[in-house]
Amino acid sequence: RDIGKKGDQLGLSMILGGCGVTLEEMTLLYSAFANKGQYVPAKWLQDEPVMESKQLISPAATFMINEILTQLLRPDLPHNAYSSTHLPKIAWKTGTSYGRRDAWSIGYNKKYTVGVWVGNFSGEGVPELNGTDSATPLLFDIFNSIDYNSTAGWFTAPPNMALRRVCTETGLPVNSFCESQAMDYYLPGISAVAKCRHLKQVPVSEDEKFAYCTTCQPESGYVQKWYPNFAPEILTFYDANQLPYTHIPAHNPGCSRIFSDNAPVIVSPAAEMEYLLEAGEKQKLMLHANAHNEVKKLFWYVNDKLLKTAPATENIFFEPTTAGRYKISCTDDQGRNTNSYVMVSFL
Ligand SMILES: [Zn+2]
Ligand SMILES: [Zn+2]
Repeated sequence: RDIGKKGDQLGLSMILGGCGVTLEEMTLLYSAFANKGQYVPAKWLQDEPVMESKQLISPAATFMINEILTQLLRPDLPHNAYSSTHLPKIAWKTGTSYGRRDAWSIGYNKKYTVGVWVGNFSGEGVPELNGTDSATPLLFDIFNSIDYNSTAGWFTAPPNMALRRVCTETGLPVNSFCESQAMDYYLPGISAVAKCRHLKQVPVSEDEKFAYCTTCQPESGYVQKWYPNFAPEILTFYDANQLPYTHIPAHNPGCSRIFSDNAPVIVSPAAEMEYLLEAGEKQKLMLHANAHNEVKKLFWYVNDKLLKTAPATENIFFEPTTAGRYKISCTDDQGRNTNSYVMVSFL
């Protein structure tokens, strides 16, 4: 219903819950998981005709979601759940809305789908409200009363699924260096087949003080070492939160390639995207770049005018005042520059 009304304005925030739903809508969507991916609109009276059903997702994808939502090792298991409650065999998912206005927990087995909402009818937020500890205990109680250890059995894998060995770091097919492994379902011909690359090998000096690239790697006198192969955004997150990880040593200072390579990569705003801002709300764009390991300072320019000089990991904010095309430039302290362009419009 909300999509019908506000479709034009919803945009990407919909993924994060920017589109309101009712308990009935959400619970019905979950009932499709219990029904091999088929959505059947609810009927409220027994003699109402059954409405036409719709296949929302494939039976195989449905089965994989059911497997995920049945796991007991998860962050949204209520506190003391193991000791204080019978855990019914169900698949379930919790949610907490912005401002802690709503706590949700929706669960299903083969026979029933139950949706629990906890909150104020006035819509006022409550600091203690969350899906895990407010709504899930109620959901468990309801299942324990109506269908504890359901006689209907559990979901079985459709025939077009298979099992394979994956790396527990990434969930991808194991590579020679993946030590922690597990068996996991996949869809032959559909699931990605690229092997795990959670580590990468880097040639470093024998004292492990410098790393080499193909340009500067010496004939001998180096060792190959394995390092975590994180995406640049993850590295930035680790650094910003001071999480420990094994760093690749600084690049060989005698290397000739370093000065022409490794310019900052502007990750926000996203290049060539149109940003819709609310007029009069003084909304800002976040500027962020992933810079090379050794870079300390970044210089940010908007339409060729210096906006700010800041530490390499800092997020910079810029408030556009007029609509139009903007040139965002980022130069690092070694003079390497990257330009990016975005459109800004006001609603
Ligand atoms: Zn791996
Ligand atoms: Zn090099």
